[in-house]
Amino acid sequence: MGRFRVGIIGLLQESNTFIARQTRRADFEADLLLKGEAIRSRMESAPHEVGGFFAGLAEAGIEAVPIFLARALPYGVIGREDFEGLVREMLDALSEAGELDGVLAAPHGATVAEGYPDADGYWLSQVRQRVGSGVPVIATLDPHANLSEAMVDATDALIAYSTNPHLDQRETGMKAADMMRRILVGEIRPAQAAAFPPMAINIQCQNTSEDPLKSLCNAMAPVFAAPGILGGSLILGFPYADVVEMGSAVVVIADDDLMKAQEAADEMGRLMWDRRADFDPKFLSVEEAVSRAATRLERPVVLLDMGDNVGGGSPADSTAIVQEWLKRGRSEERAFACLFDPRVAGRACELGVGAVFEGVVGDPADPVTGRFSIESLHEGKFVETMARHGGFSEFDQGKTVVLRHQGSGLTLMVTERRMAPFSLSQLTSFGIDPESFDLIVAKGVIAPMAAYAPVAKGGFLHVDSPGVTRADMTRLSYRNRRIPLFPFEKD
Ligand SMILES: [Zn+2]
Repeated sequence: MGRFRVGIIGLLQESNTFIARQTRRADFEADLLLKGEAIRSRMESAPHEVGGFFAGLAEAGIEAVPIFLARALPYGVIGREDFEGLVREMLDALSEAGELDGVLAAPHGATVAEGYPDADGYWLSQVRQRVGSGVPVIATLDPHANLSEAMVDATDALIAYSTNPHLDQRETGMKAADMMRRILVGEIRPAQAAAFPPMAINIQCQNTSEDPLKSLCNAMAPVFAAPGILGGSLILGFPYADVVEMGSAVVVIADDDLMKAQEAADEMGRLMWDRRADFDPKFLSVEEAVSRAATRLERPVVLLDMGDNVGGGSPADSTAIVQEWLKRGRSEERAFACLFDPRVAGRACELGVGAVFEGVVGDPADPVTGRFSIESLHEGKFVETMARHGGFSEFDQGKTVVLRHQGSGLTLMVTERRMAPFSLSQLTSFGIDPESFDLIVAKGVIAPMAAYAPVAKGGFLHVDSPGVTRADMTRLSYRNRRIPLFPFEKD
């Protein structure tokens, strides 16, 4: 028998259906849209599940056949034609790849396209149809997936990252590659089952290293490692997608025993349901958060702007927390925020370093106003060398300008492109010392904590700020979610 050949494909995007602007093909081109060997050179060493696929297959002596990879930053749903075009390209590339012994796939799990509410379930089913039932298909998932029956049916195994912030993406890809090896040599026969308890774990409670989620994960771990069980994943869910699958779930893989997989999944589903009250958090308003930060002795305090969670698809320009801080007029304090505003970034580049201008910055509906001095200008490219949430190592936020607000201690970084705060290099690469501030606004929920923990001497505060990613999901209007579903319906 010749050497095994395993194909690698991926299509990743977290789609926020509460945002009107669609994600387009150009958004994939701006991040990742690759075919064939270009995938290997770009991703082989990345702290990403696709990097893990390459590493795991190499270790097993299996030939990796990179086929197709597309990824775009979280934003609105993908436009119909763009999505259909991407899937067509993926399937054509899959056909051209020749005979394969298996496929490793990287969906996000919370992708929505116009006309395809379960976009991942759709494309995975297409892949299954193309390769046939005899070829194993293993897919990784972001635990922010909204798991569907179609995803479960289309794959031999689904393996989600087990951490949030996501720090084990590469390991997850390696686990998938190792399971593929064991299937190909005839060592195991995965049987997969899922449970869908009627609940959605709130985004504020999705930190796997803090309670209540930490103890739920600890309680599940022995079941996922029991004899005859090949693995299991807790799927947290992505609340900003108004789809029927929205919510939390669990998936278990047993060795050649579907009943055993289903029993374990159901048991874990009941465990989640029994603990649901733990996942109904108390929220801190913008006013409460800013005044609580002022009482902290250690600095800086990092305020997590949950309503403008860029990693959840939001606009990255909300000024709500900064405005509240400015209103309090503590001019002896220093605060920092990063805002997406391509118009200001462009204008500042024309004016040059040292210039002072009068203007408005950030959210057009509620901008920061006043006089600003231009401290520095940058190309906006930076590199993260540590494993951080998202599995990115190279970033490009476009034209970047650092502004000082005259008459307050506010420093703003203004970017030409939306950028999620997943790396402290986003500040330090551009001459900003995070520890010189009393207050830092980071636009996210759990993800930024991996990057900011080393400097957050005053701790983190989760802020229930307004926006398309507001933390209290009961205040969003859904049309397609399941009913009943906790926390909307409490029992
Ligand atoms: Zn995620």
